[in-house]
Amino acid sequence: MSYRVGAGYDSHRLAEGRKLILGGVDIPFEKGLLGHSDGDALCHSIIDALLGAAGLGDIGGLFPDTSSQWKDADSTELLKKVVVLCKEKGFEIVNVDAVIIIEKPKISPHVEAMKHALAKTGLDINSISIKAKTNEGMGFIGRGEGIAVQAVCLLKIR
Ligand code: MG
Repeated sequence: MSYRVGAGYDSHRLAEGRKLILGGVDIPFEKGLLGHSDGDALCHSIIDALLGAAGLGDIGGLFPDTSSQWKDADSTELLKKVVVLCKEKGFEIVNVDAVIIIEKPKISPHVEAMKHALAKTGLDINSISIKAKTNEGMGFIGRGEGIAVQAVCLLKIR
């Protein structure tokens, strides 16, 4: 039996007229995440962590933003495909830990809903950890121009 770790990172611009969707949850806010898909940076970061650990490339290779197929895509559907892919390759997903870095709004009231939404992609709810923090007012995140998400995961090869 062996283990593999993976790291994921994603950032998206905050813009007016867009929904703020993170971990499949629509969070009420005056701005949302700009993107070819729904801009769900939490899902995207977890996807890259899983693909990295599995040695399956990255999100841009699997779901190119030049393809109209993924325009306005529900990112939980993309994550679902990647979870299936990992399992098909013989990996068990031990855990996923993510950090959302966002100045506003407050994310903690939505974490449980995110875990439940992510569990619908095939991840075990007890294997998901989501944390959130501000960037203490610094940089593009601090100015509210965008957000970033970091994720790590551990895969076990059965
Ligand atoms: Mg993205």
